[in-house]
Formats: sequence, structure tokens, C-alpha cells
Amino acid sequence: MPMSESYYDRLSPVLKKVVDHFGTPFHIYDETGIRETGQQLIDAFSRVNGFREFYAVKALPNPKILEIMKTMGFGFDCSSIPELVLSRQAGGRGDDIMFTSNNTSMDEFTAAVGNGGCILNIDDITLISKIPKMPERICFRYNPGSRRTGNSIIGNPAESKYGISHDQLLDTYRAAIDRGARHFGLHAMLASNELNHEYMVETTRMLLDLVKFITGDLGIQFEFINIGGGLGIPYKPEDKPLDIRAMAEEITDLYTQFEKANGYVPKFYMESGRYMTGPHGVLVTKAINRKDIYRKYIGVDTCMAALMRPGIYGAYHHITVLGKNNDKNTTVADVVGSLCENNDKFAIQRPLPEINEGDILLIQDTGAHGHAMGFNYNGRLRPRELLFRTDGSVELIRREETISDYFATLNFEKDVLAPS
Ligand SMILES: *Cc1c(COP(=O)(O)O)cnc(C)c1O
Repeated sequence: MPMSESYYDRLSPVLKKVVDHFGTPFHIYDETGIRETGQQLIDAFSRVNGFREFYAVKALPNPKILEIMKTMGFGFDCSSIPELVLSRQAGGRGDDIMFTSNNTSMDEFTAAVGNGGCILNIDDITLISKIPKMPERICFRYNPGSRRTGNSIIGNPAESKYGISHDQLLDTYRAAIDRGARHFGLHAMLASNELNHEYMVETTRMLLDLVKFITGDLGIQFEFINIGGGLGIPYKPEDKPLDIRAMAEEITDLYTQFEKANGYVPKFYMESGRYMTGPHGVLVTKAINRKDIYRKYIGVDTCMAALMRPGIYGAYHHITVLGKNNDKNTTVADVVGSLCENNDKFAIQRPLPEINEGDILLIQDTGAHGHAMGFNYNGRLRPRELLFRTDGSVELIRREETISDYFATLNFEKDVLAPS
């Protein structure tokens, strides 16, 4: 099941009223579902030392969503100055914020260490000498290259731009110690939308092995490890959900063994985006046109400006039609927006119920990397965001973009240089 059945059952009966009040299109997020997922994480990892989720802000950077994360005790993972500002506005202070930037500029470092600071998660050895002042607490992002860990191959990070190579690890921590760092973390982010929990277990095993290796050489203890995000969600009806309990149990075992062998354990952090909010968002849109040429097309009143994933990754998002029997898919159609790009399609050759103009479509699992990835190409404006509260109310949490937003950056002081 893509979006949770309970959200579907709660949303469907009220959706017509929400559409009538706010108008389409909109993303609508489910506070109840987000809290349930958060609580499941907390419960699953309750026996792992210092477990904490740092919500990956880029997945759904809305202040009201970040507020929910804060009340669950979560921190924030961010990588740009606006994301830092958002995290601090949501009440994140110091150790609540992990700054996992890459190709970092001096301005970003300055913003990260100022205003109450954060946990700096550094992406490259050369950045150590560029930090204005080495904080006491520092973390480094590790890239294992195309190494195997245990029996599993964990992707092919040798081609990815992130992190510190294995050869550089000891020199990196040594340099940080020399500059005054006293508390240490180790981070890796090696998966994306991964449904096999063994990947996360293997990442944990790899990080704990590295902690032991670095401690053996440099004598430092680690305050935490951070296994990153990348926990997957079932976008397709046939996908099997990630087994979070099995993942937590195996990681708990790794921790027990590590503690026995080393007399201490680092805290356990993760920074999930998709897993926390992905299934708890829906893009609601109205069918406005039907077109029959070589294929059938259903034209809707939004486009890839509101959800890029199908267009750029060919990602599957499950679609249902309000009030129709969605087990009876009699029509095969492409569901399209109006952007002048042929990849502006939410579904390609998808079996769907018969759709008429005015029908309401639910494009599911848009709660992460949905609205946030939107853009204005072709003069397309992003839709509003709503929050379906646990008390049953529906709240506007971001208005739709307007033409004046589109023109806002054309409002500036004249500035002409005559170089000669
Ligand atoms: C994008 C990102 C995440 C979140 O990824 P999900 O797939 O949404 O869990 C976490 N950490 C870092 C460093 C990221 O860039």
C-alpha cells in the first residue's frame, strides 16, 4: 500500500469539502501519520543508545512540519543557509541541528557556526583548515568507495561526490584534533529509497568498525554515529515496506556487541526525510481535459512544478480517483500537466478508472521531495500546502505562488557597469 490506508480512510470523506474550500491543486499532509511514523521510530530504536532522528529538512521544508518534528524531540538535518534559518526558527539550537553540506562556501560555514551553532558534518579534509574556528564537536561524512561491507555491496559511492575517502580518515580526525576538536561523530549516507533494511544494518556495522579502527589509532572516543537517511517507502502497491523493527533489532544487537568489546557505545543518529513524511502527503488535483490521439491523456490542473519526481527520475506515484472504484481500472492513460516538456507526466500508460473532467485525483506519497523540489520553469507556479491536523481541522501552511512572486526578482535597483 502506498499512502497509508488510515490516511486514505480519514481524508476521502472530507476531501470534497477541502477541495471546495481551498480549491485545487494542493499538497495535503497528515499530522497523525507523521506522528505515528515518528513514534514507531522512537519505539523501534528505544534500546539503542541515544537514538535521535534529525529530520532531513530538504524533504519538506515547511515550518509547521518542522514544528511537529520538534515536538517529537527530533533534530534537523540541513545543508543550506535558508534551511539553517528554518531549523532555528523551528526552535532548533546547537546540537539539534546537523549541518551536512558539501562543496561548502565560507558564507555557509559562517552561518553554521554563528547564531548558536550546530553540529558541523564536514564533507572534505580540505575544509578543515577553512573553517573559521574549529568547534569542539565535529563530525565527518565518510565515503567507502566501491568497498564491500560484510557480504553486501553498498551502492557504488566511488562515483559520488560526497565524503572523505578511507585513505583520508585518520589524517582527517588528526587534523581536527590538532585544531581543537574534542567530541567526534562519524556519518555516512549511502542509500536512497532503500526498502531492504540490511543496507542500513550494514552501514551501521561499517561505521562501528570504523569507529573502532579510528579509536585504535588516535585514542579518541566517538560521541555518535549517523547513518544518514535513505530509508525507503513503498511507492508501488506491490512494494514491501521497509522492516523497521528488524532493522532496529539487528542494530540493537550490533550495539550490544560493540559495548561488550569496547566498554562504551556512541549515540545513534539518523536523518530520514522520505521515511518520515513521504507517505503522509498527497497532491490533490482536478482533471480538466481528456485527450484522445495515439494515446489517451488526462490533463490535470497542476504540473511537474508541483512534483518533479516522475519527470526527472521516472518515479512511480500511485494515483487514485476520488469516489471511483479504484480496483476497476478500465482505462489506460497518461496523466499530464501543461508544461511544454513531454516528461511533464505524473503517470505513463497507467491503468485507471474512467476519468471525467472535474474528477479529483490523489497523487500519493508526495510528502517528501515533492513541493520542495518544485520550480518555476515555463512560468509555472507552485501550489499551496495544507496540513490535515490530528483534531480533524485542515490548515493552510503555505499559500500558492502568485504572478507577483514570479516577478519579485525583477524588482531591483538599476545597476549597469561600463567596464572600459
Ligand atoms: C537527502 C538527504 C537525506 C534524506 O534522504 P531521504 O532519502 O529523504 O531519507 C539525509 N541526509 C542527507 C545528507 C541528505 O542529503
